[in-house]
Amino acid sequence: MLKLNPSSCVRYYSKLSECNKCEAICPVEAVETKEAGIAIYQDKCVECGGCVGVCPTEALELSDFNVTNFFFEFLNQDEQVISCKTNFVCLAALGTEYMIALGIVKDIVLDIGHCPTCELKEKCFPAIEDMLNEANYVLQTIGGKEIKAESLVKTKETEPNRREFFNLFSLKKVAQAKSEFESKLEALDNPEIALDAAGAKAIKEKSIPNKRKLLFTLLKKMGKPDEYKILENRYLSFTSDKTVDETCDNCSICYRICPTEALSTTRKMDAILFDPLLCVRCHLCHDVCEKKSIQLAETFDTKEFFEPSQKILAKFNVVRCIDCGNFFTYTGGEQVCPRCKIEEEEAKTLWGIE
Ligand code: SF4
Ligand code: SF4
Ligand code: SF4
Repeated sequence: MLKLNPSSCVRYYSKLSECNKCEAICPVEAVETKEAGIAIYQDKCVECGGCVGVCPTEALELSDFNVTNFFFEFLNQDEQVISCKTNFVCLAALGTEYMIALGIVKDIVLDIGHCPTCELKEKCFPAIEDMLNEANYVLQTIGGKEIKAESLVKTKETEPNRREFFNLFSLKKVAQAKSEFESKLEALDNPEIALDAAGAKAIKEKSIPNKRKLLFTLLKKMGKPDEYKILENRYLSFTSDKTVDETCDNCSICYRICPTEALSTTRKMDAILFDPLLCVRCHLCHDVCEKKSIQLAETFDTKEFFEPSQKILAKFNVVRCIDCGNFFTYTGGEQVCPRCKIEEEEAKTLWGIE
């Protein structure tokens, strides 16, 4: 069963979010974006995990396969091959960040022998190739191990059945399977997932996805390279560098809404600060910015992977309003905040004063 944590999905943060990565990769149309949130059609879902691999905020999870747990188990094994026929779901579920993380610590081979004939190939195979190319692009510039993709197709007789492999675990969990079955029945009747009060509270508590924490740790362990290189932002999907142009009026929505606190501000709210390595490229800040003042930078310095910094994207002159005393971003003229100006205009209209 596919589970969604709405408090991690950016579509529940704002109706303006255009994130549809899960919907775009799903080979069986089991995920549909809605005006505010998403719907999951459990009866269509084949549990390939493609959507899990592309979700920037780790909002999706398969109930019988956890990619983070797989990562740790696989690290402790001599096995180098990751295959949808033996030890993994669809390779697309790995996602770029886990691929990079594995490429930092281990020689790995992705078994793509089954992809060309797989029923899910139309959506999932190009996604796997993109993830692999991106991961190798990053690994090559930071000195990691290249991830190989090979065709290791085995004959049907010798091939272990992936379902049986997972059943070894799920047989131990009969009670859990029963409760999952009941949840699945309930989810079939209610495909559109709502945000409850606890979820709304959780949205306010910003968090960094596990896959990003893991990448931090492994990069730290790796040690700094002799020289830093420049990556092209357009080839990256999992992080970004940004700029803010002069049209920004410090409305504050981007740094208030950013789910990972990659965007933040000072106590006086007189600057927009940005930590590139905290950015999961969910695009929410771009989507909510009314003036479209946030842009992707053209490049990403690999120095950010090893010596993360906080950049100042914009600085503002924040002063006290002479009427109400509240702080506001001053851009010239009378030192009165926009709210007091509107109130003054409304009062004038009411009393017929020019
Ligand atoms: S944040 Fe994840 S679950 Fe939400 S719309 Fe984007 S990809 Fe889908
Ligand atoms: S797990 Fe696969 S089939 Fe199910 S919703 Fe996600 S992408 Fe679609
Ligand atoms: S900076 Fe923007 S794209 Fe990056 S995590 Fe925050 S909201 Fe998402």
